[in-house]
Amino acid sequence: MLNKVFPYTLIPQTGQEYFQSGNEPKLLIVGQTHGDESEIVPLVENVLFNHCSELPPFLFVREISPSASKLGTRENIDGLDLNRSFIVPPPTEEVKQMMELWSKYVFDIFLTFHTDPTAADFYLYDGTKDEDHEKRRLDVTEGFSLLQQDLRNLGIQLRNGIDDSDDPTLGYMTHNGYVYWPMSTKINDHATDYWLIMNTGGARQVINPEIPGKASLEQKEKIIDSIIRRLILNQTDN
Ligand SMILES: [Zn+2]
Repeated sequence: MLNKVFPYTLIPQTGQEYFQSGNEPKLLIVGQTHGDESEIVPLVENVLFNHCSELPPFLFVREISPSASKLGTRENIDGLDLNRSFIVPPPTEEVKQMMELWSKYVFDIFLTFHTDPTAADFYLYDGTKDEDHEKRRLDVTEGFSLLQQDLRNLGIQLRNGIDDSDDPTLGYMTHNGYVYWPMSTKINDHATDYWLIMNTGGARQVINPEIPGKASLEQKEKIIDSIIRRLILNQTDN
């Protein structure tokens, strides 16, 4: 597979790369936060490349933590889980650079890809402030039911029950692959989404898919493609 690559801007201090389409991106897409979840980054890149002309203006950050990718660990070079490190003042350069970059814009949607390494099934978090939930919730949309159907067609189960029994700060209930992530009642866990939605108002909604680690590469790319088509482009045709 020939990788199609965006003409990235490089942040020299950290090696972080981003691509911006349009002057005022309304969509922030992040391919990686944790270094043990980097496998999907080229897949996300490919899918975005294929849909580039249909997407609304977006900012794509390949990896929040190139240093964690190099180590192959969840934590970055300073031993930090970057999804628990969006703190002022920023405790590590990779966070500092992202805060500076993201602060230039107000995003409608923050789409942040993660992988659940032990999972064979799929789920995603849909996070907003409570007052935005009814008008923005994904689980009642046609796009989300088409995503669910795509996953079933791929042979990927949709998670029901507890989201992540390994992480005590989580413990949310999933329903057919969907978790509402009530940002207003959540304790500040210094995650990227909490910082953008609650602390700065830099985004209105976070969509955090957990790509099943046990799926094949081909399935993973199809899942990512379906997320973009069904939830972002709202495509109902095939
Ligand atoms: Zn992750």
